[in-house]
Amino acid sequence: MQFILATHNLNKIKEIKKAFDDADIEIMSLHDFPDLPDVMEDGETIEENSLKKAKEIFEHTGIAAIADDTGLEVDYLDGAPGVYAARFAGENCTYEDNNLKMLNSLKGVSRGKRGAKFRCIVTLYGENLHHVTEGILDGEIIEKLTGKNGFGYDPIFKPNGFELTLAELSLDDKNKISHRGQAVSKMVEIIRELKRKKI
Ligand code: IMP
Repeated sequence: MQFILATHNLNKIKEIKKAFDDADIEIMSLHDFPDLPDVMEDGETIEENSLKKAKEIFEHTGIAAIADDTGLEVDYLDGAPGVYAARFAGENCTYEDNNLKMLNSLKGVSRGKRGAKFRCIVTLYGENLHHVTEGILDGEIIEKLTGKNGFGYDPIFKPNGFELTLAELSLDDKNKISHRGQAVSKMVEIIRELKRKKI
């Protein structure tokens, strides 16, 4: 069995490949197909973007594709930035720009009101194949950047029940609890089942 991860993001590739470690499945990524055009992530929901990425990469390569899309929903901001998490601080912004904008947006907001959640949708799309899984990680936005691991909002996101941010956890520990880790584990189970049935 072969799949392509529909992403260029090295952090995600590392995280997702690790989850498939013992599943005996060949996982490629867009780095193995450098000539493919970029997929525009212009959907209005993470469900739409996840499907669009998987479908377009399958249509270009003929190989079943796995795509993820994540949103960050912050309670105090009425669910923003949601599907626009990557561009919260504007087009072409960096992870740091987004984190600083988030810290500023929540300046002075008390601890109990800083609740947030990551929601991730993973889609597998191929010939006669369409499966979707979801993972949610509840937590809060802390008041300053803390930790060096991971990417994106990891240095300001503290999962509920932890005293550390995602950027202070090892990759293994993050994968065990994260939104993407949960959605990918569910997808690994689906793929194991497909393999068992020889689909
Ligand atoms: P994407 O659409 O899945 O690439 O996610 C959109 C944005 O959400 C990314 O650009 C990151 O800023 C953020 N994000 C996604 N996953 C994570 C994560 O695991 N930790 C921190 N931030 C993340």
